Amino acid sequence: MFEPQRKYKTCIMCGRYDMTREHIFGKSFADYLDVQHHWKADQYTPTGEKHAKRSFKKGPSPITNIAPRVLCNKCNSERLSGTMNSSLPYLISCASGESFSLTPDAQQSLRRYFERVAMIIDVCTSAEQMQQSKRESAKHRHGPALISFDQRKAWLNEEIAPENLNIYLGFHKGVLGLNPDVNIRHTASFKNGGIQYGKRITMVIQRLAICLDINMSDFECPGETFYPLKEITNWPPNTDVSYDDYYALRNQDDITRRYRQVFSNTALVEEIEALSIPRGEVTFPIELEPFLSQA
Ligand SMILES: [Zn+2]
Repeated sequence: MFEPQRKYKTCIMCGRYDMTREHIFGKSFADYLDVQHHWKADQYTPTGEKHAKRSFKKGPSPITNIAPRVLCNKCNSERLSGTMNSSLPYLISCASGESFSLTPDAQQSLRRYFERVAMIIDVCTSAEQMQQSKRESAKHRHGPALISFDQRKAWLNEEIAPENLNIYLGFHKGVLGLNPDVNIRHTASFKNGGIQYGKRITMVIQRLAICLDINMSDFECPGETFYPLKEITNWPPNTDVSYDDYYALRNQDDITRRYRQVFSNTALVEEIEALSIPRGEVTFPIELEPFLSQA
């Protein structure tokens, strides 16, 4: 999904032309994380209930250093620098598991940070500003972005939160073997007589587990240890995110089942794209076996 060479003509937030590269997670946070391993994508394309095709793709850099050319110079260096600077200390506290209380300022800074991350990933996994001829091979990028340009502009200029985006955070204490982990799941459901497409972005960055839901109103965040950001007043929350909880959310078994039911009579197939950086060798830890054997 992250193609460094993909060309965006205009800024995805404001429409200006002076495009610059921008770290999805912000350069300061990427520098703090200092991830050395290159990202690798597992791609599962289920071809039926029991059979799935699995393929791998290797990326050119650690996921934390991915910097698509989606923002203009003004947004990058002026308009969004306040958001990036003010959120950094809170992000580091969350990621390191340090205790702090989420004041209204901390809430607002973290909310703006994750809204920005979600909007960039949403655009990168859409067909926005993509030539028709390129769309054919871009399997995960056929549709428009789910958070519209107007919503992004209102977010930039008037600080209006996209109403179809929900942010959940959890405290991840254990070792999953994959960290950082980023997973993007495309979903679809029936809504008001039509199909509503959605995306769930799940991530683990050190102690911080994140779920960003776009257009997922029909599927509430099932993780019992993930909390809506606006309800978190103290970090870390009392209950940790367990391995089962995170993987249930990441692989969204309950959504998959409902999705299959909804689409059992149609030709639509589900698609999963997981981006992950294993520590050390490119092998999967034993705790992933149940997940891999399902695929
Ligand atoms: Zn801009």
